[in-house]
Amino acid sequence: MAYLDDSVEQMIHQNGELQEILLASHRRMQVNRAFLAFPGAQVQSQLLHGTRVRFTEKGHVLVNPRTKETDHPHIWAVGDLVNHSQQVSIAMGDGAQAAIWIHKRLKEMN
Ligand SMILES: Cc1cc2nc3c(=O)[nH]c(=O)nc-3n(C[C@H](O)[C@H](O)[C@H](O)COP(=O)(O)OP(=O)(O)OC[C@H]3O[C@@H](n4cnc5c(N)ncnc54)[C@H](O)[C@@H]3O)c2cc1C
Repeated sequence: MAYLDDSVEQMIHQNGELQEILLASHRRMQVNRAFLAFPGAQVQSQLLHGTRVRFTEKGHVLVNPRTKETDHPHIWAVGDLVNHSQQVSIAMGDGAQAAIWIHKRLKEMN
């Protein structure tokens, strides 16, 4: 196994099956599997613009890390909106944590 720091120029395939990768250095690698990463995802937080919610420079929503509450008393934020991790498991955990605190806040209103 080798780690190469290079850019992929072309993925060469036959009948839908990956065969080779051509790198920017003109090196060719025979492969039959590839894992793709997509950098540069944009935070989709525009819906909250104009509310009391605060944002980081990159547009992520600032929340209390424990409760997932924003600066707006009735808005919680979780998942890709609040961090760079881009992981389903983290979004789900955040959601569960937010649910606990939404429940607590609802009970406080009684
Ligand atoms: C190509 C790709 C591959 C990925 N692969 C993996 C992987 O292998 N493993 C992994 O853990 N994670 C992966 N991720 C990341 C993962 O999908 C996200 O981290 C996760 O879905 C975040 O969940 P979320 O609930 O925060 O946001 P989302 O899943 O994006 O949910 C937000 C929802 O809000 C809706 N929405 C947005 N604005 C509005 C609006 N104004 N009105 C109504 N609805 C609205 C959207 O339509 C969407 O359904 C991948 C992401 C991409 C794009």
